[in-house]
Amino acid sequence: MSARIQVYFCMRQSQLFLKTRKDFPKDEVAINAQLLIRGGFIEKLMSGVYSFLPLGFRVRDNIMSVIRSEMNALGAEMIMPALHPRAVWEVTGRWKKMESIMYQFKDHSGKEVGLGPTHEEIIALIAKPVIESYADLPLAVYQIQTKFRDEARAKSGLLRGREFTMKDLYSFHADSASLDIYYNEVKKAYLNVFSRCGLRAFVTEASGGDFSKEYSHEFMVAADAGEDVTYLCRLCGFAQNKEIAKAKKGGACPTCKDGVVEEVKTIEVGNIFKLGTRFSEPVKLLFRDEKGGMKPVIMASYGIGVERLMGTIVEGSHDDRGIVWPESVAPFRVHLVCIEGDADVSEFCKKTYERFLKEGIDVLYDDRKEVSAGEKFFDADLIGIPWRAVVSQKTCAHGKIEVKRRNEKEATLVKVDEFLKMMKK
Ligand code: ATP
Ligand code: MG
Repeated sequence: MSARIQVYFCMRQSQLFLKTRKDFPKDEVAINAQLLIRGGFIEKLMSGVYSFLPLGFRVRDNIMSVIRSEMNALGAEMIMPALHPRAVWEVTGRWKKMESIMYQFKDHSGKEVGLGPTHEEIIALIAKPVIESYADLPLAVYQIQTKFRDEARAKSGLLRGREFTMKDLYSFHADSASLDIYYNEVKKAYLNVFSRCGLRAFVTEASGGDFSKEYSHEFMVAADAGEDVTYLCRLCGFAQNKEIAKAKKGGACPTCKDGVVEEVKTIEVGNIFKLGTRFSEPVKLLFRDEKGGMKPVIMASYGIGVERLMGTIVEGSHDDRGIVWPESVAPFRVHLVCIEGDADVSEFCKKTYERFLKEGIDVLYDDRKEVSAGEKFFDADLIGIPWRAVVSQKTCAHGKIEVKRRNEKEATLVKVDEFLKMMKK
């Protein structure tokens, strides 16, 4: 009973801890931050650091659910600490190497500690007692956890945070054949995650950077707000980071021959690396092979930025009135907007809302008093819930609701029953 009352309240707009804004911090240049702040999804605390208000929390949570549902087939979930001792990072030489991006400081006892920008060192240590022999391999584990990076250019809203959530997956293998098989499975799962979030991601070859001599793969989404430049063929999906690209801009696609290579700005929503023994060797993460010899474990790491994904969705899916959420991550499925009228209207509204709840429809009920119809519609467009259902004196007289998709112009009058049938399809 108490759980039901909770649901009942949190889905009423008057109880949602939400106020949309006509203005927004002048220092926000990124569209994602502007719209998300105006819509009451997030609030900026300082450059690259945001709070997630109830609306934003729900979207972030939905994105994490999509990620989890794809990752759980690949490994178990765990969580590691954000606060790390210097000693662990010294083993791989990255305490010094990452000092420009890693928050490093002394605690009260004078001990040096840092906030984790990534977790290869920590997971390699944790894996030591878990992995003893070849029979223990392959293994993988992931977390969805807060990362800290002292980013120099934290001006892209959610695209580049200094405190942000990453899904990071780590895999452990006895040989590179095992790694290759698993790596391809992750690639597929990543593409599922992005397409389920309504995005077309291009798998791009990039250098392994600090981690490995091998190529890594970046998952790029075309967007003007992107900080990367990619050469890509929209026809077949061929993509290469401009910095390493052998393809020519405007030339025929080297893969499919039919498409044209375009130069586009892209956002990196995910990144996967074959690490080899870069971390296992210094940490002495070894396993006993079939002949009884000791060998370093072959590792790989795979990241997705949760909030960056959220910001990317907004960059790609909005119009001049606000956000247009894909159903998979929308904070609610239906926005029930009550336009105040006589007592019958209020009663009809309440009944409709209760009916939606009973049928398990994820609904936000705009029950606010003393707010004009114009303001309610303005807010509904800004917030961007996929379906809007309006109850007013006019619709009430027909015993109907007026429904419209966020990305459509025309609304239609339908019976609540009809709408529910549509929702269940
Ligand atoms: P970038 O090149 O954009 O700085 P990166 O290559 O350093 O990112 P990784 O270390 O590979 O990023 O992190 C894995 C994923 O985490 C990235 O693909 C991205 O989605 C996300 N990510 C990285 N840095 C940030 C950040 N500052 N804010 C939000 N998400 C981030
Ligand atoms: Mg990268």
